[in-house]
Amino acid sequence: MILRTHYSGDINAEMDGKEVTLAGFAHETRDLGGIAFLVLRDRKGLAQITLVKKLLGKEAFKSARSISRESVVLVKGTVKAEPKAPRGFEILPGEVQVLNPAQVPLPLDPTEKVECELDTRLDARFMDIRRPSVLAAFEIESAVLESLRGFFRENAVTEVFTPKIVAAATEGGTDLFPISYFEKEAFLNQSPQLYKQMLMGAGMDRVFEIGPIFRAEEHDTRRHLNEAVSIDLEVSFADDKAVMEILEQAVAGAYRHVAENCRYQLEVLGLDLKVPSLPFRRITYSEALGLAADKAGAKMQWGDDLDTETERFLGQSIGEHYFLTDWPSSIKPYYTLPYEDHPEVCRGFDLMHPRMELASGAQRVHDYEQLVGRIKEKGLDPDGFEFYLKAFRYGMPPHAGWGLGLSRLVMTMLNLENIRDAVIFPRDRKRLVP
Ligand code: ATP
Ligand code: MG
Repeated sequence: MILRTHYSGDINAEMDGKEVTLAGFAHETRDLGGIAFLVLRDRKGLAQITLVKKLLGKEAFKSARSISRESVVLVKGTVKAEPKAPRGFEILPGEVQVLNPAQVPLPLDPTEKVECELDTRLDARFMDIRRPSVLAAFEIESAVLESLRGFFRENAVTEVFTPKIVAAATEGGTDLFPISYFEKEAFLNQSPQLYKQMLMGAGMDRVFEIGPIFRAEEHDTRRHLNEAVSIDLEVSFADDKAVMEILEQAVAGAYRHVAENCRYQLEVLGLDLKVPSLPFRRITYSEALGLAADKAGAKMQWGDDLDTETERFLGQSIGEHYFLTDWPSSIKPYYTLPYEDHPEVCRGFDLMHPRMELASGAQRVHDYEQLVGRIKEKGLDPDGFEFYLKAFRYGMPPHAGWGLGLSRLVMTMLNLENIRDAVIFPRDRKRLVP
């Protein structure tokens, strides 16, 4: 049995006279003597419950008046059109039940009238998410995932899960979390990269995975966490250009889906969401260096990773999503395919939002000998990658793919300041609880 018949947001003045049951939190109470108001909040909005002594009876009126804020309440009553009420209606209850009372004082104020430190909010995240604008971001995140899954399904991409407990690093780096795995050493996976490539060798042709990635880097930024959700795609018989088109369509499609399906949440956030237009601009790494040198006087050498200042400059001057392509092979991972006729440049790309990187992708090396060579060039030992390399010896289709950070997509879409606003229970250098 579901206790409520309606959410607050589903009710309007046209439902005058209808009997409804609402359930939610006591957002606010106001007592004017013979009449009192209880504002009930659920995930779709607020409803004004007008407490009338005559309707409720003396005892029930008295206890309803004194409900502590944020208690869980159930209200059975009649909708009445009331032009003076905030949304044009009020509920006249015949019954108000406290299903579970809230203690006082509250760890934070969910009505959003009071600003609150991020740490305090994260410490009492369950209460923080009762704030409509905080909740709205997570509901939109869910809509983004719905859109992406629908898009992948339309494009005949198979959803897969690869292991998060692994024996080797994807890129041979040291930024992994070690865990103990019986008598062996194991790690939390930093990316599904190697596994999704192996699935190309398995003939799965097109796969996607939405799952956690773990990075043991000591970040202290607004866009890095130690645990993040990555949306990964890998497609056989595709090159870098093809998967860039898939990526821009996926991103624009997610914006469109949110604009169409999350009107209430966008209103709560005060956002007029603009769907980015396609195609996104493509800028090569060399062009980016040139732009930065001309206009910002940046002193970067070919082969340097783009620094934050250059990224900021490019973002500001371009002002919308763009791709950075054709990176130096020396700064992209070994599995990125160099151009055949000028191997110092590779088919790697990044998808950028003016504020930050959203995704990285590439056409991959699919030739066994070339891959072994690239691993050695990067100073890594091919023996450590035998489980992966094996899949390249018996017929590996050419393939390409990308990894897109879910929270970065959401935080840039919603203009959230900090990635922690786009992750329900974030994990960073200092935070392991809750
Ligand atoms: P950055 O340069 O911004 O640190 P990266 O190049 O190390 O990112 P990739 O390995 O390319 O990251 O991962 C693909 C995507 O996954 C990134 O574009 C980003 O959206 C997301 N991502 C990677 N690391 C993190 C992290 N620590 N926190 C949140 N998202 C991340
Ligand atoms: Mg990257």
